[in-house]
Amino acid sequence: MAQILDGRETAAALEPVFRARLAALREAGREVTLAIVLAGDSRPSEMYAAFMQKQAAGYGIPVRLVREPADVTEAALLADIETLNGDDAVTGILLMMPLPAHIDAERVVEAIDPDKDIDGLTTANAGRLAAGKDGLFPCTPRACMAILRHYGIDPDGKRAVVLGRSNVVGGPAAQLLQRANATVTVCHSHTRDTAALAREADILVAAMGRPETVTADMVKPGAVVLDVGISRVGGRTVGDVAYDEVAQVAGAVTPVPGGVGSVTTAMVIESLITAAERRA
Ligand code: NAP
Repeated sequence: MAQILDGRETAAALEPVFRARLAALREAGREVTLAIVLAGDSRPSEMYAAFMQKQAAGYGIPVRLVREPADVTEAALLADIETLNGDDAVTGILLMMPLPAHIDAERVVEAIDPDKDIDGLTTANAGRLAAGKDGLFPCTPRACMAILRHYGIDPDGKRAVVLGRSNVVGGPAAQLLQRANATVTVCHSHTRDTAALAREADILVAAMGRPETVTADMVKPGAVVLDVGISRVGGRTVGDVAYDEVAQVAGAVTPVPGGVGSVTTAMVIESLITAAERRA
């Protein structure tokens, strides 16, 4: 049976490290504040915002919640972002997605000061990532890397295959793995024979949003499998990996829930700390 790569354990191990970094910032007189922009009445966004408020409170980090109604104008949202960008007390901005349909989300995202862009969504931060520079990078791919680090799995020289190429997950996961000296293949919906490519992976990242599609025959014996997918199926939360059968073949695998998702929220706190340190 595969080793379980436990996201909650990984997040718990990071907590004292984050507290120490926060203490150092405070000692230097630099307070950290998170701004959350929530437009509309999406239930998942509300739940995520409430969860992040609680997480931040646990670290003594003040949160400024900017709430806008579902019929907010794009100009008003852009003005909110502008105000937060210009407010020295605000360290980072978390923009809840999706935005109401009439808003040009890309325009609002690009308005965020890249140095306050906690989710690493701006083109400026995507460019920094692609160019091998420091910046603020998407939290979920960083959660994957944090899990690997926590369990002492070094991607250096390994074959990594990432299933999915989105700007928030698959794409940056591939770039971070490449930075860590893995040899990376990215598969997407046009890839031919994804199963054969997946079977070559020492590290397989599943980020397609297709429930339980990674089956045991797609996994090399002993491979490390990171399951990013989150889907609701028949009242259950499942990942992209058919966990029970893959766990018979893989060397290590993240569960869903309790895997990558549990570390993603910790990475939001880390981004905030990084943003504050970069400013200092
Ligand atoms: P997305 O934007 O829909 O991207 C899905 C990607 O998968 C696309 O690149 C798509 O290819 C590719 N894909 C689809 N079918 C495929 C197939 N059969 N074989 C290979 N690739 C295929 O989704 P996302 O935002 O990246 O999210 C992916 C999953 O992660 C979702 O389940 C989401 O809920 C979950 N998620 C989890 C966390 C977490 O914290 N754990 C955070 C964010 C998202 P094309 O580019 O060709 O369309």
